[in-house]
Amino acid sequence: MLSEALTALKGVGPALAKRLEKLGLSRVDDLLFLLPLRYEDRTQLVRIGALVAGKRCLTSGEVLLAETAYRGRRNLLVRISDGSGQLTLRFFHFSRQQQAQFQAGKHVSCFGEVRRGSAGFEMIHPEYRILREEQGAVTDDSLTPVYPATEGVQQGRLRNLTDQALEAMLKEPPPELLPQSVTDKLGMPSLADAISYLHRPPPDADVAQMQEGRHPCQQRLAFEELLAHYLSLRSLRSLAETEGAFALTHGQGRVDQFVADLPFELTGAQARVVDEIMVDLSRPHPMMRLIQGDVGSGKTVVAAIACLKAIACGVQAAIMAPTEILAEQHWRNFSDWFRPLGIEPAWLSGSQKAAARRDALSAIANGRAQLVIGTHALFQEGVEFDNLALVVIDEQHRFGVHQRMALRDKGIGKDGQPHQLVMTATPIPRTLAMAAYADLDTSVIDELPPGRQPVSTIAVPDTRRGEIIERVRAACKSGQQAYWVCPLIEESEVLDYQAAEASYQMLTEALPELRVGLVHGRMRPAEKERGMQAFKEGLIQVLVATTVIEVGVDVPNASLMIIENAERMGLSQLHQLRGRVGRGAAQSHCVLLYKGPLGRIAKERLAVLRDTNDGFVVAQRDLELRGPGELLGTRQTGLPDYRVANIVRDASLMPQVQMTAEELRRSSTSRAAAIVRRWLGDAGRYGKV
Ligand code: ADP
Ligand code: MG
Repeated sequence: MLSEALTALKGVGPALAKRLEKLGLSRVDDLLFLLPLRYEDRTQLVRIGALVAGKRCLTSGEVLLAETAYRGRRNLLVRISDGSGQLTLRFFHFSRQQQAQFQAGKHVSCFGEVRRGSAGFEMIHPEYRILREEQGAVTDDSLTPVYPATEGVQQGRLRNLTDQALEAMLKEPPPELLPQSVTDKLGMPSLADAISYLHRPPPDADVAQMQEGRHPCQQRLAFEELLAHYLSLRSLRSLAETEGAFALTHGQGRVDQFVADLPFELTGAQARVVDEIMVDLSRPHPMMRLIQGDVGSGKTVVAAIACLKAIACGVQAAIMAPTEILAEQHWRNFSDWFRPLGIEPAWLSGSQKAAARRDALSAIANGRAQLVIGTHALFQEGVEFDNLALVVIDEQHRFGVHQRMALRDKGIGKDGQPHQLVMTATPIPRTLAMAAYADLDTSVIDELPPGRQPVSTIAVPDTRRGEIIERVRAACKSGQQAYWVCPLIEESEVLDYQAAEASYQMLTEALPELRVGLVHGRMRPAEKERGMQAFKEGLIQVLVATTVIEVGVDVPNASLMIIENAERMGLSQLHQLRGRVGRGAAQSHCVLLYKGPLGRIAKERLAVLRDTNDGFVVAQRDLELRGPGELLGTRQTGLPDYRVANIVRDASLMPQVQMTAEELRRSSTSRAAAIVRRWLGDAGRYGKV
């Protein structure tokens, strides 16, 4: 029964089944995992005299009178009493029949939110029932669940369907898949008990705890769901172990020479991560490695070394970046590094002219292009590689797992899959990384190149803009440079551009003796490039920019950054932006201009940046204050929609989830597979189990 289609239930025809599908329900047991959003208490009948405004209560009484009144629109007012007090039921929409039901002397029971009205307590559009003679109000044995609604499916219907599913579950309880040692240790109920409880909690259930999702029954389900996702990612990881890849075993001499010729020495952390990558690359199975490193930690050169290794072995490497400006910056860096070695990178982007694109595509297809740098354009149709053996994805959090896989698929050939290196400057708290990237091995660059100074950060209301402009003047007079950043407004490029344009005007007028430049998202790449380049060469002293400069740009002489409307931006994004200064010898400053007054959370958020320069701490606080979507990017987070779990709320479960998963993978693979199937279906998380 549980594994049958919903139409196996009484009262479900094809039309209703279709509507239920909108809630993600297709099988009977899906209903078991559709947990209530909240609960209502109809287990007690409250005397009218004991009603409390603001609470949703069940009460009853005798109709004293029913009348219609005009107050702007027609109201039906029904006054009831139970001897302890009076209550008015107010309806704005009602039929003649409804009106006729409420005859004086009839008894009604009703459930709704109690409000203070003009004539004492009232309920607006309560659920009600006209009681038969001598019949009392009917109380429920358990709290009433309120389910996520979908159009055309009433709560009553959902309750009826879950009743049927729960009954079926009692007849054939789902197998307990968690090891007893784990449920014992965590003091968690069985799956069936947890499900029954959450759908029909007893009257004395701790509703507040359930509302927060911290009830042991919810934790029990969240644990198993997180476990299912983790297992799915881990099996994806071990699947890669069975795939072939081109083992990059040659050319170490060229790589060593390149490292020796760099104008700086690798930090200890960089050298360690390079070693880890080299070991991976030399194996005949695809590398799947994530590099985490704070902004400015020097990930690019690590990627370059990996690419050179591939090129030295006679195969192709590709680097994909999320924005044109970042891809361009890579293109410039890699060209500088690789041209002396006779390696000419090819360029591929969405805004490219047709002829240039055609040339690039043919060089990529015939293998003349040993290194390809670009944006999303890299994995689009029509791009054929000759022998792509290494894929580097920068700022992974801007891409989804599916995009990563699409690029990987470009390189599937006779040797197997390409190696994958993904990099992120958004340091991800450990528990979140466990949930999001369990299919990847992780390397952390936890050291900044020598000579970096922590940026001192202050938050200032924008009423003090004048003072800040004076600071810009002073800094530039002493030979330094400044960024003036205007945030992206609601993802709208037009407003974005207008805000930057307005600030540009304002600054040009206020600082006539300085050269002020402007770079924003609407400019053509060549224009942007010219602006950035002029800033880099010191021809421009103040660069007004939208968040296009968020990732990548590198101008060591810039030591002051002003960020307007900082209160609207994510903490990690602000941290990234701030990472653009503090790259040279001078003490750097970041000024967060905000529009006051700030709420408590907004104040706390800006304080985080003032108090720390550690990207991991910033990310952890961002996660706590705003949730994982904001941290990993909203649309393509690489994080799935969980049914029960909430990765922030349930983060503390992750270490135990990980331990349990590894144990199951060792000792009980069939159970592990059953857990994945129960929560993710046959497809697993990304189409493979
Ligand atoms: P991110 O990790 O944010 O991508 P980048 O790779 O852009 O950082 O590096 C930031 C800057 O640090 C670049 O100018 C780069 O050349 C420089 N850099 C990288 N590694 C070192 C190092 N070991 N010593 C000194 N400078 C370095
Ligand atoms: Mg970078």
